[in-house]
Amino acid sequence: MTGMAEIVHPLRRSIFRGFTGNCPACGRGKLFWKYLKVNGRCQACDTDLARYPADDGPAYLTILVIGHLVVAPMLFFPIVWRSNPAYSLPIILVPLAALTLALLPRIKGGWVGMMYALGVKDTDDRLHTADAAD
Ligand SMILES: [Zn+2]
Repeated sequence: MTGMAEIVHPLRRSIFRGFTGNCPACGRGKLFWKYLKVNGRCQACDTDLARYPADDGPAYLTILVIGHLVVAPMLFFPIVWRSNPAYSLPIILVPLAALTLALLPRIKGGWVGMMYALGVKDTDDRLHTADAAD
């Protein structure tokens, strides 16, 4: 099939290593040097990690997961609708924000791991089209 990425590294292993914040290639080096900043090169195996794009994918996926698995089920509880918003909003939004911020780097790590497994690099115009839209 044209236009589809081919798996060049083990997919599940690469995603899991990225999800846990480790280099998708070796699993020993750290993927991030700051909260969401990907290391340029793995300190353990020297893989060029900066070449694997994440773009907006991790943010969209985090919103999708939080929205479908947390927010939507929460709306079925009547206490959310009947309580005073001055009390219920902080009680709901603060843990929700914390959960979102905790999940985002893991999803980004998994996303970079998936890009590594699929061999999609930032210079691959055929598969990575975000820059072409600019
Ligand atoms: Zn590595």
